[in-house]
Amino acid sequence: MAHDNVRPAVFLDRNGVLNRAIVVDGKPHPPTSVDDLAILPGVPESCSRLRELGFALIVVTNQPDIARSGQQAATVEAINVALRTKVGVDAVYVCPHDDADRCECRKPAPGLLLQAAQDHRLDLTASFMVGDRWRDIEAGRRAGCRTIWIDQGYREQAAADPDAVVANLTEATNWIESMYAMTADGAGTPSVAGGARWACSRKRGTDMQGRN
Ligand SMILES: [Mg+2]
Ligand SMILES: [Zn+2]
Repeated sequence: MAHDNVRPAVFLDRNGVLNRAIVVDGKPHPPTSVDDLAILPGVPESCSRLRELGFALIVVTNQPDIARSGQQAATVEAINVALRTKVGVDAVYVCPHDDADRCECRKPAPGLLLQAAQDHRLDLTASFMVGDRWRDIEAGRRAGCRTIWIDQGYREQAAADPDAVVANLTEATNWIESMYAMTADGAGTPSVAGGARWACSRKRGTDMQGRN
């Protein structure tokens, strides 16, 4: 398969991956204001490293509090702008829905990843999804990416069958780097090392035509 003009990405969940989640009764919650936004240690350095390796960095985040009316969309947007200022990422994709909306973008659905792949010409099979909850890992799996679970010890179901389990984004970045070998031409384009561990269809891009 030709990979001309397509890039691999690292898809990043937001809360608990890039910024500190507010944990209440063992469950993570998003910051409620820009002042509450605390970037986790090592995150800017990890993002810089991944960009050096040639990955697009795409944040994919469920924000059901918008649908639940607990948080204003403007607040979510302000937090995401602040996040982009502090951490270099290429784009932020937000699902503002709740389960009842039955949308195609709320993780574990893969819609945010598929839309980003279309918008940014991403190679999903060479991409990674990093998240701290089972929904992130399932979304990454459905999109055809390798998956890395940052296990924060939340009191909820574990992620099912991630490709790697790590403690933070620094460890995730090290694992991603270990999975890749730089191309011999020094062009800076990562290529998959170790062969295809997963089989998946990449035809779903056509399903996204006409959306948005
Ligand atoms: Mg999270
Ligand atoms: Zn959605």
